[in-house]
This record gives sequence, structure tokens and C-alpha cells, in this order.
Amino acid sequence: MVEVRFQLFLLVFLAVVMMPLLAGWIHGEARWGRQRGGREESSLLRCSICTYVYVDDMCDELPRCPRCGTYERRGEGPS
Ligand SMILES: [Zn+2]
Repeated sequence: MVEVRFQLFLLVFLAVVMMPLLAGWIHGEARWGRQRGGREESSLLRCSICTYVYVDDMCDELPRCPRCGTYERRGEGPS
């Protein structure tokens, strides 16, 4: 009797705790996907000064070369 109540309590507790986490995770994934939308082709950039190729994961308007610090314009990916 007590065993069944404990299992039920555990099930309800996990559902109450996990549902907001799961909803937040799904919401975050959807938001991240929207931010990344349409930028997949330009996520790989090459610095025009030092020719260093890097992945632009900051989604900034002016991505910055991690090697020399030069600001790059979008749409000038490696060819
Ligand atoms: Zn550079």
C-alpha cells in the first residue's frame, strides 16, 4: 500500500519537475533554430586579412576573426 503511494508520488513529482524543463528545452531549441534560420551558408567565414577560416557561431552583425580580430562582412564565406 505504502509502496504504491510512493511510486505514485514519485511519478507525479517527476512529471511536475520534468514538464517545465522539457517545455523550456523545446522552447529554447525552437528559438535557437529561428535565430540560426537562413544563416547556415554564411556560418563558415574566412578572414580577409589572415585567411583564417572559422565558424561564426555568435550570430553577430559583424563577426570578428578569432585570430587577428578583424571584423568581417557577411556573405564573404570561403569559396
Ligand atoms: Zn583574421
